[in-house]
Amino acid sequence: MQAIVKEKRAPGLSVKSVPKPTPGKGEVLIAVRHAGVCGTDLHIADWDPWAQGRIKPPIVVGHEFAGEIQGLGEGVTGLRIGQLVTAEGHIVCGHCLQCRTGNSHICKNTRIIGVDRDGAFAEYIVMPTTNVLTLSGIPTEVGAIMDPMGNAFHTVLTAEIPGSTVFVVGCGPIGCFAVGIARAAGATKVIASDVNPKRLALAEKMGANVVINAAKEDVVRTVITETDGEGADVVCEMSGVPSALHQAFASVRLGGRVQLLGIPKGDVPINFADEIIFKGITLYGVIGRRMYQTWHQMRRFLIGGQFDPRPVITHKFPLAKIEEALSVIRSGDAGKVILEIV
Ligand code: ZN
Repeated sequence: MQAIVKEKRAPGLSVKSVPKPTPGKGEVLIAVRHAGVCGTDLHIADWDPWAQGRIKPPIVVGHEFAGEIQGLGEGVTGLRIGQLVTAEGHIVCGHCLQCRTGNSHICKNTRIIGVDRDGAFAEYIVMPTTNVLTLSGIPTEVGAIMDPMGNAFHTVLTAEIPGSTVFVVGCGPIGCFAVGIARAAGATKVIASDVNPKRLALAEKMGANVVINAAKEDVVRTVITETDGEGADVVCEMSGVPSALHQAFASVRLGGRVQLLGIPKGDVPINFADEIIFKGITLYGVIGRRMYQTWHQMRRFLIGGQFDPRPVITHKFPLAKIEEALSVIRSGDAGKVILEIV
């Protein structure tokens, strides 16, 4: 089968033919139809310090996908050939303290497809049935981005949203999803900031009531004014940019909540007393998707028609055009970029 492979401990990815996998006990074989391209794939392609410490080539990359079940391993029940599915890409141990207390998203033994084992930028992938979710009418191009969309659902829905003002800091694809989810979940006002006008336009399309160009406007003052002098009830930090992190803390109201998803490159100096403690705020670190609460909430929002992520999808490429897909992500102007494998 055709796949995108990280072959060597050096920059670059290869499009090549690799053996088609066989489903083992409790696993299914899925023919991939759509796959989402993510910043993580860019790190792996560029072979940055994180990739150098984590990836063991050769490996098939890609972790966001949806497709059709075409083979069942031994002992698989409850799934059938022909079903359209997506999957949680974090394969967890099921026996650590976190897994046994309903917190598998922070399992200490997590292995991620396309990072720690073969991934989804291929014609076929094998997944354990525990991780497979049926699409039930959700199109595969939407199913393929339920992993990053799930990060946004996790970020937004673990805060109290109905009747709240929400400030989304950073309008990459996950930030844009967060804007639409916050509106769908009953936020009264959603404010979004970014430095890129194209991304701000996407946030507006997803329902942002107010957008702030952080390169030109006073972000904190605008949020305070737009929230009757209080600050936002909930701030979702989706950028990881140090200046934006300080804006997040300065824009949240006293006693508010800051959801942290964006990953800063290095250390960020924080004034704990003034930015966090004296404001009485709550911080929540977002990693992955709650298994499987986030997935069920997301399926219901999608199937119920309350939330449609498709305006955020700006580019589609065939599998072999991975380099073009990565370069539109590098440009910073793209929304969500997906690969079509059919
Ligand atoms: Zn575990």
